[in-house]
Amino acid sequence: MTDIPYGRGRQRRGNPPTKCVCPQCGHTAEKTPGVPCRSMKCPKCGVPLMGE
Ligand SMILES: [Zn+2]
Repeated sequence: MTDIPYGRGRQRRGNPPTKCVCPQCGHTAEKTPGVPCRSMKCPKCGVPLMGE
């Protein structure tokens, strides 16, 4: 068989942030892949988190 997998998805280079940080109190939360940090809010401050 000469079936060679080709163009198997796209690979992105660089490391995306693995944690989200609250800009106010420094609270960190694990980042969920595919979910931007800004869509998460700090449980203490209620402000959007930022990517580290
Ligand atoms: Zn906070």
